[in-house]
Amino acid sequence: MKNLIVANWKMNPETVKDAENLFDSLKKEIKEVKEVEAVVCPPFVYLSCLKSKADSVKIGGQNCFWEEKGAYTGEVSFLMLKDLGCSYVIVGHSERRHKFGETNEMVNKKVKAALNAGLAPILCCGETREERIGGKITDIIDIQVREGLKDIDMATVPVIVAYEPVWAIGTGESCGVEEAKFVRNFIYNAISEKIPVLYGGSANSKNAESYLKDAGFDGLLVGGASLDPKEFAEIASVANTIKPSQPAI
Ligand code: PEP
Repeated sequence: MKNLIVANWKMNPETVKDAENLFDSLKKEIKEVKEVEAVVCPPFVYLSCLKSKADSVKIGGQNCFWEEKGAYTGEVSFLMLKDLGCSYVIVGHSERRHKFGETNEMVNKKVKAALNAGLAPILCCGETREERIGGKITDIIDIQVREGLKDIDMATVPVIVAYEPVWAIGTGESCGVEEAKFVRNFIYNAISEKIPVLYGGSANSKNAESYLKDAGFDGLLVGGASLDPKEFAEIASVANTIKPSQPAI
């Protein structure tokens, strides 16, 4: 049982060399952290050069397309990610949903394709600021989780959910612990299965403990702070001391 700490590098850094250096520094900083499953999700183009470096720190994709091969210009398949050494893949990130028009139906196809390829999908869900103000948090989470995981037997496959309030992503405005805990419990009830649930949204070394210990999340999805190896390692060190409430994948 280990907490899962996932780095989402988004569209960073700018060169292969920088990606290699960032990964090396992160591995160095994190090497004493044994009780955490650390995963880096870089842009696709850096996966092949990070494959040989990934061992204690795993690698994953930030997105993928559900078909295995064919006439899908610009897309990458889950099998390709698997071949590049990925163990995990982020699916339905809010930036995919809101900037690239991904629907719950598309997200569900991606979750299924990830599982078929032998990858553990990290399904992201979260409400926008407007939805929050409009009192729709649970409606949104319910739809995203139920439709995203439709026809999937969660007792038998390695699915992870990440609660990422959209208004907290990249804003420095993290979600209150009680509110996050409420949503975490809501997710457990909605899917009736105790799968690992992560928190994401301006997570850092200062607030990591409250999400993992007080709110009971099983790990963190970290964006901005993951580009600073020392800060990411600090987050992992915090997670190292806290027992997760659910069995890790
Ligand atoms: C994310 O991209 O999933 C994320 C949580 O970003 P940040 O930590 O920067 O809010």
